[in-house]
Amino acid sequence: MTQHSTLAQAIAWASGQLQSSSESAKLDAEVLLLHILQKNRSYLFAWPEAELNAEQQQRFATLVERRQAGEPVAHLTGEREFWSLPLYVNNSTLIPRPDTETLVEQALALPLSAQAKVLDLGTGTGAIVLALASEQPGWQLIGVDFSHDAVALAEKNRQRLGFEHVEIYHSDWFSALADQRFDLIVSNPPYICEQDEHLSQGDVRFEPLSALVAPEQGYADIRHIIEQAQAYLAPDGYLMFEHGYQQAAGVQQIFAQMNYRNILTIKDMAGCDRVTMAQKPQ
Ligand code: GLN
Repeated sequence: MTQHSTLAQAIAWASGQLQSSSESAKLDAEVLLLHILQKNRSYLFAWPEAELNAEQQQRFATLVERRQAGEPVAHLTGEREFWSLPLYVNNSTLIPRPDTETLVEQALALPLSAQAKVLDLGTGTGAIVLALASEQPGWQLIGVDFSHDAVALAEKNRQRLGFEHVEIYHSDWFSALADQRFDLIVSNPPYICEQDEHLSQGDVRFEPLSALVAPEQGYADIRHIIEQAQAYLAPDGYLMFEHGYQQAAGVQQIFAQMNYRNILTIKDMAGCDRVTMAQKPQ
């Protein structure tokens, strides 16, 4: 380990180690080192010649080894940023993805009142509901999840951010929401097909299948939510999903079968169909 005792040397060494196992070897190395140093990015550029002590070198080598074995960087650091918010992450939920910011943008662009009631189904880390809360201090927001571990994690994230206008609790989709009506319901539900080859590649191998995979080619939970949501939407309320890039037509069709209005699909930053929304049937 003596050959990588400065920050710059440690990054160079780790980038080489990770080259064959990660598409973002250098970035991974930087993020892991900054996690050990408990510093932000500018520190690396300001102090490339700073020395790591033996204990830091040992911890860094261990993280690099775990990363080489495939563990997601977010699991190694326990954190991931979403919508510029720092979120705790663990293996009970999906790791928040940049694609999902498309859904947040679309939700914030809707013509809703400053006191809108908003529900996030399957909130996971709380990423979506907390991002919305950060932009809309007057909204009343609820995030629910079927997983008790996810509820605990999202609540921890809520407390860290200090958002008093968000409630997090346990519910199996709508099961704990009797008699409530929402102006907007959002969800990033499981939507991957069981046979999808991507499930055996990269970070998703370390995420819970219950958050990724759904029966009926990935449509089962989306269908269930579209059917149930009518009873929980306020008049003219919106229902909005993230979905797979090939699922826009399928999601639109389910909305149409249930007589939802103003069905609309939006593309993500990569130009893929990613979010479909509609308004409650009249
Ligand atoms: N977009 C994620 C992926 O492809 C899946 C997210 C989800 O199932 N809700 O890995």
